[in-house]
Formats: sequence, C-alpha cells, structure tokens
Amino acid sequence: MDDYDVCVIGAGFGGASVAALLAHAGLKVALLEKTARAGGKTQTTERKGYRFEMFGAVGIPAYNSRFHELVDTLGIAERCPFVVPEGDAASIRYLNGDGQWRVCYNPLIATGSEKEMADMKATFGVSDDDLGALAAFYGAILSLQDEEIDALDDTGAYAWMSQFNLPAPLESQVCMNLNTLFVVAVDRLPASEMIYALRDQVLGGAGRYHIGGYGHVAEVCAEYVVEQGGLYLTKTRVQEILVEDGRVAGVRLGDRTIRTRAVISNAGIQPTVLQLAGAAHFPEDYVARVTALEPSWAICGFRYVLDKRVFDAALIPVFSDESWLDEARYQGMLRGEWPNVPLIAIDVPSEFDPGLSDIEGHQLANCQVFMPADTGSELVDEALARCEAVIDELWPELKDHIIRKEPYGAKQISSMSRDVAVPGAGGEAVGIAQVVGQCGKSKPDARTPLAGLYIVGCDAGGRGAGTHQAVDSGFNVAAMVCEDLGVSAVPREVRA
Ligand SMILES: Cc1cc2nc3c(=O)[nH]c(=O)nc-3n(C[C@H](O)[C@H](O)[C@H](O)COP(=O)(O)OP(=O)(O)OC[C@H]3O[C@@H](n4cnc5c(N)ncnc54)[C@H](O)[C@@H]3O)c2cc1C
Repeated sequence: MDDYDVCVIGAGFGGASVAALLAHAGLKVALLEKTARAGGKTQTTERKGYRFEMFGAVGIPAYNSRFHELVDTLGIAERCPFVVPEGDAASIRYLNGDGQWRVCYNPLIATGSEKEMADMKATFGVSDDDLGALAAFYGAILSLQDEEIDALDDTGAYAWMSQFNLPAPLESQVCMNLNTLFVVAVDRLPASEMIYALRDQVLGGAGRYHIGGYGHVAEVCAEYVVEQGGLYLTKTRVQEILVEDGRVAGVRLGDRTIRTRAVISNAGIQPTVLQLAGAAHFPEDYVARVTALEPSWAICGFRYVLDKRVFDAALIPVFSDESWLDEARYQGMLRGEWPNVPLIAIDVPSEFDPGLSDIEGHQLANCQVFMPADTGSELVDEALARCEAVIDELWPELKDHIIRKEPYGAKQISSMSRDVAVPGAGGEAVGIAQVVGQCGKSKPDARTPLAGLYIVGCDAGGRGAGTHQAVDSGFNVAAMVCEDLGVSAVPREVRA
C-alpha cells in the first residue's frame, strides 16, 4: 500500500497539467495513465522513424495561451519549445456557390493587411461593405468586458452572431472555424465560449505546435511529477476509486492500492461518477444530471504518412456554404442528408516540425471530419468515404505517395481517453458539457459532491477550445485542491 497526497487518474492535458502544478506546489502526487504515453486525445506516438499525432493536434491560441503559463510556471519551457510558422502557413479551400474551388493562403496570425483583405474578397466573392460587417463582428468581440462575455453563457453563438448580418460566405468561414474549435453545433455553442476563443485567436493567432509532437508537453509534465518525488505509471488502469466514511480514500489498480487525501479524475465525468466511484456515492439528482450531460461530436479521419510534400500548408480547412453545422444540419446528416462538401480539417504536423520524420520531405497529415460520439455509430464509414472523395478531387496525386494511411473514429478516440459509461457517449473529441446550459456558470463543478473527488479536463473546471480548455481546467482544479488541502503555495492566478 502506498500513501500520496493526491492521485490523478489519467495523463491527458487536464490530468498531466494538474498533476505537475500540484507537484510544483509541494504535494506528493501519483499520476496513473492507462495508455503507454501522456497526452490523452492529443497524444503523439512514435513508429518506424515517424513521430505522429494519433489525432490532429494544433493549439489555439498560438501565443498568450494557458500552455505558455504552464511551461513558465513549471520552468520547463526549454524542454518543450513551441513553434508558430511564419508566412502563409494556413490555406483555405472553399467551394463557392458557382461550384468553383477557391484557394487562398494566410498567415496563422491575421494582420489585416491589404493583401489579406484582397484575398478574402477574391476567395469569398465579397465586397468592402461585407468586410465591414465582419470587422464590426470582431470589433464587438474585442470590446466586450469579461463580465459581459460571462453573461452570454446561455445565449447561442449563432444567435449572437446573427445581429451582424454577415454574408453567407463569411458566415460560413466563421461557423466552420467554430465547428472545428468546439466540435458542437454553432447554435448550441455558448456565445461566451465563442467570444473568448475568437478573442484569443485574434490576439494570439491560430496555430501553435510543440517541437517533438503536440503531446510532448504532457510527457514533460509527467516527468516533472517524478522529478518532484511523485509517481508516474503508464499502462496502468485505475479500476476503482475507494470511498471510506463518505469521502475518497484512494484508488485500486488491480491488486495494488494507493491511499490519498484527494483523487482528481481526468477519466471523464461520466465514467468517474457512474463507474469508477459508483453512482451510490452521489445524490440521485447529481447522478441524473451527470448522466444527461451531452458529449461533443467525435471526429473521424485518416492519419497519413506520405513520401512527398503533398499538402502545401500546415492548416487547411476545406468547406462550402453547406459544410458548417448547426443542430438542424447535423440532424440532417444523421438522416443521410449530407452537404456537397463535408467540413474537412487538415492538420499537417510535419509543416510545423519537419523533425517529426527521419526522412526529409516526408509528410505527416491528419484529414478529419465530424461524426457522432457514439462508438458504435455506423456513420463513420460514410463520413470517411465522403472525406476521401473530396481529398482525391483536390489532391489527385496524394494516392501515389501514401506510405501509411490509418483510419480512425469515435471507437479509437474512446480507447485513448474515456470508457463508454452512457449510451451514445465515449468517443467525444473534446469532452462532455460543451453546449448552452452546460458551460460557464452552468458547467459541472470540478468539486464533486463526494468529498475529496475532483474532475479535471474538458468536462469541468475550464473554458476554451480543446486542449486549451483542458489546461485551463488543470490550473483551476490545482488551485481548488490546494485551497481544500490547506496548501499555501497556490499556483498562479485563476482566470475568472
Ligand atoms: C481527432 C481529434 C482532433 C482534435 N484536434 C484538436 C486540436 O487540433 N487542438 C486542440 O486543442 N484540441 C483538439 N482536440 C480536442 C482535445 O484533444 C481534447 O479536448 C483534449 O485533449 C481533452 O483533454 P482532457 O484532459 O479532457 O482528457 P483526455 O485527452 O481525454 O485524457 C484523458 C486521459 O485519461 C486516461 N484515462 C482514462 N481512464 C483512465 C483510467 N481508468 N485509468 C487511468 N487512465 C485513464 C486516458 O488514457 C487519457 O490519457 C482533438 C480531439 C480529437 C479526438
């Protein structure tokens, strides 16, 4: 039997960051991860001379992010350098209303230059007045105070955006971006989450990568726990959260028990409450609420290793005016009513870090589309086929340069993150509770009703897009646990 102050279940970005921050605060931490590496859904893996992302992974914002605060707080910035490519590293492929593909190239941080404005007009066929409407939209976002943004937790993003009367192509561009960032319908996304994320994107840029692989930061956080005298075990699944006298007492891993004062779970709020601890330890209304929380969609796609540089940018969204999804369009897709182009997000990690391949000029890319979070969804085959058809049309030479092509979907996401605890959930790309009524002040509390049990990651405790939200939660939960355990060395400020 081992004694630790805190046990963290799972080394995704929520778990790895909270574990490292608590170790930094002087607590004895045990970090337990069921897979072979830290990073969770944004884990980087290594095979036959290539380091590649299991799923796509690029950080937003590029600068001024919670990731920067994390590596600065822990003093590990030199061990995980960040990279934001200069020049036109992003490229849009837009199918216009006349059925013509338009292409434009942009920097990852918009500058508002004359060239960028001219490219927008040519790509989307819009006027100066239309660009004025877009400027008014972003101007309003930048002028709002945090309290005003928080007051929009229960307003849908699409409803708030509608006041600016954006022309269809510009609306498509904004909505496509929001779908990609949050992996939920634009009318179900809270306006507050949209505004914080777009503000971060305007001020901090649209694409950060970590040299050595996106997941490398989580790996260094896990190493940091060990360097501070803690424990980090991989390929170690927590099977049960132990409860004694109405509070958590530790965890069970097979025949080994770890006793702790607090347990922080990155294993998903539903599996944690319903399976690892067990519903009997929580009030009935809490169990009902947790069970009813909605998953974000899943993402399915192809992981490519190519023997040539086929994609000429690091980030490539592919879309038309039919591609972005509100709830009605998403429900239509479930019934088989597909858009002419499914929204495809192409991430090309080797454009950020050419060192990911041992062979110069080889390319690593993930091409991805949306699908339901249900790990048994039969939509995966159709979504992949439609994605592939568009890729073949736009990059016909790609099929002659494939060294490896690996499809993935909700089932693979679940195996790299959380178990299925509620029918229809488990394969969510971002997490649970990402929609109006379940975010901001209505987000599940990271402190659960079971004393000593906390949730970290995208299900509770944070704001932001994807991994940024997970690390935001890591900071906030670290501060909570320090407060509850009476530790004075509270990590840096908590974002309101
Ligand atoms: C295809 C795809 C593309 C994405 N693209 C991006 C992107 O470009 N940028 C971005 O910011 N975000 C992206 N995301 C979203 C992002 O990956 C997630 O929002 C984020 O990683 C979630 O972090 P988390 O800490 O909540 O948990 P997770 O990443 O889910 O980590 C949970 C961890 O807990 C472990 N675990 C679970 N149960 C147990 C147990 N019983 N015992 C031990 N360990 C356990 C898991 O193995 C895992 O390591 C993408 C997601 C997907 C699927």
